[in-house]
Amino acid sequence: MYAILFDIDGTLVSTGGAGQLAFAETFAAEFGVEELSGKVPFAGRSDRAIAGDLMRVHGVDPHEENWQRFRAGYLQRLPSALQRKTGRVLPGVIELLDQLAAAGHPLVGLLTGNIREGADHKLQHYGLADRFDFGGFGDVSHERSEIAAAALAEAQRLAREEYSPASRLEICELAGAMVIGDTIHDVSCARAIGAFAVAVPTGGATREELAAAQPDLLLDDLSDARPLLAEIERAMGG
Ligand SMILES: [Mg+2]
Repeated sequence: MYAILFDIDGTLVSTGGAGQLAFAETFAAEFGVEELSGKVPFAGRSDRAIAGDLMRVHGVDPHEENWQRFRAGYLQRLPSALQRKTGRVLPGVIELLDQLAAAGHPLVGLLTGNIREGADHKLQHYGLADRFDFGGFGDVSHERSEIAAAALAEAQRLAREEYSPASRLEICELAGAMVIGDTIHDVSCARAIGAFAVAVPTGGATREELAAAQPDLLLDDLSDARPLLAEIERAMGG
């Protein structure tokens, strides 16, 4: 079995800035911040890390109570922000997910800095909610490498407990894992868990920036996923 872990923003979908809009509206309503500082980067980072940095920049104490206040306000506003911004599912995503399902790969999951309920809102809005059975989410940690480790552990647990033969004579172990993402942070967290890193410049970084991070595979987008599928076959001994 092989685990394939997808980043969400800039990899599966472009929300047209809906996430940032919901961040801005929440900071305005909950903390009186009129305009968000442009100095805090969003791409490839966890919701918790972004919110914490924004609180520090705007003089809001980033303690747990304020995080929970932000979290509740953000989840309340995100569905409406997704409606108001024009986003899309990125090229090749649906076809790739169909191909993975047809090839019998059950361990297709998420590796995202989004908090779990925020990820659910985004995937539901774009009709992708039933495509992923597990994942690592931004609730787990500020650190993307820790989120990746959580996603990999969940894939390993599923391989052993859900997908091993009922006889238990043969325990399914992972033959490998792949992380697909749009930023250098996705490449580095793939490295942190020993996964094959696929990078696509469809979101937070240019092709040149991604190339500098030396992913195992750099594609223009996911519309020709043959090299990616070939790597999965190779890792599984096919
Ligand atoms: Mg991303």
